[in-house]
Amino acid sequence: MTPTPAWRLEHTYTRLPGLFFTEVEPTPVEKPQMVIFNKALAAVLGLPQEDAAVYAGNTLPPGARPIAQAYAGHQYANFTGLGDGRAILLGEQITPDGERFDIQLKGPGPTPYSRRGDGRAALGPMLREYIISEAMHALGIPTTRSLAVVTTGEKVWRQDGGLPGAVLTRVAASHIRVGTFEWAAAHRDVEALRALAEHTRQRHYPEIENNPVALFEAISERQAKLLTQWMLIGFVHGVMNTDNMALSGETIDYGPCAFMDAYDPATVFSSIDRHGRYAYGNQPPIAQWNLARLAEAMLPLFHDDEKQSVEIANELIPKFEERFKKRWLAGMRAKLGLFTEEAEDAALIQDLLDQMKDSDADFTNTFANLTTGRYEPDAWYERWQNRLTRQPQSRDEVSQLMRRSNPAFIPRNHKVEEALAAANGGDLKPLQTLLEVITRPWEHDRDLPDYSQPGSKAGYKTFCGT
Ligand code: AMP
Ligand code: MG
Repeated sequence: MTPTPAWRLEHTYTRLPGLFFTEVEPTPVEKPQMVIFNKALAAVLGLPQEDAAVYAGNTLPPGARPIAQAYAGHQYANFTGLGDGRAILLGEQITPDGERFDIQLKGPGPTPYSRRGDGRAALGPMLREYIISEAMHALGIPTTRSLAVVTTGEKVWRQDGGLPGAVLTRVAASHIRVGTFEWAAAHRDVEALRALAEHTRQRHYPEIENNPVALFEAISERQAKLLTQWMLIGFVHGVMNTDNMALSGETIDYGPCAFMDAYDPATVFSSIDRHGRYAYGNQPPIAQWNLARLAEAMLPLFHDDEKQSVEIANELIPKFEERFKKRWLAGMRAKLGLFTEEAEDAALIQDLLDQMKDSDADFTNTFANLTTGRYEPDAWYERWQNRLTRQPQSRDEVSQLMRRSNPAFIPRNHKVEEALAAANGGDLKPLQTLLEVITRPWEHDRDLPDYSQPGSKAGYKTFCGT
């Protein structure tokens, strides 16, 4: 029998030293109205069904102890103190399966970390986060999830004028970031750092021993896995600051993210990323750069002697690249239906990518076409076909592997924009249809050209902090 849905909130994070959080209440809003509620996710969490007042922050659910978390971060390589400026954590929900998830309101009003911000969010960006995070989940990529979006009946004021205000409920394994460690390190508080490391281990890496080096290795491994999944699916996060890298290994902070259409490692969507720091092809080295900041923060934990600590860190950091490269090659083999390993596979893969780059080929559709036999045969195709004959697996096995490695549907930028524009005008139908398509990404037999075509070509721009 499934237990009655109920709030079962715990607060293990608040057992950490006080420097990591501040108690703060959400600011009630004028007129909470549910826009979208994730019933399937609510069931997994064992939560009662929709109640707009709760998900707007007007009514606290039973057992809530709202806090804003403190953290620092390297934003575009510049170090700053940050914290939840527009997010409030209600607590950690214990699911019927005994799992623990942070329930956080995004856009609930100001906190002590808001600086000059209003602590609020606009409907468009919150729905964007809902769409993309649910697509990522359906694609099998670790991610925070979206439980609800409510409108507030209030306007938020941004560059483009007054926009409908909204609150998103975000569900995460935790919100501990690289920046959380940087916050403790900046305070030169080794005891706080140690407590945070142990909390992180117990929560996300219970299988490893209480040892900071082992913890760092496990974090690096999980980031390598995550980055591989992003790269294999054409995901561009857009703002990989260290405060936006979760130590759980989940994708977090959906701001200016988008999926790449034509294959190009230089793909950037974020309007403020002028130098391409967070371009598609730059994401793995940036992840390693972020891990280097984590290692720096963890130095006092690695060894009592600073020189030895630095030596340990210098050995740990570059291992990310090896981990990523190994996983990426394995993942690309799967995309091409390869079960066995040959030395020339790397060249076969690279030649396809080079050819895609030269011809502006759509990333998702090229692999989808190879999967379903709609790829226009060329010299590369003949090489690949030859390679397939040199493994014992049947064509059917190849096809099955490719069908679960190459999605048919990703959230196409033009469809996302269309759904958001309609929702802003009060029409939720396009949003619902889009969600229905992208939460079944592997269904190659559905013929929905409007959802699988890339739409208009160059110049798509996204914005963060809105
Ligand atoms: P992000 O770009 O979403 O990772 O946010 C970077 C930092 O800015 C975080 O500390 C956020 O909490 C803060 N922030 C973003 N938007 C707002 C806002 N409207 N009001 C207050 N703080 C904000
Ligand atoms: Mg952030």
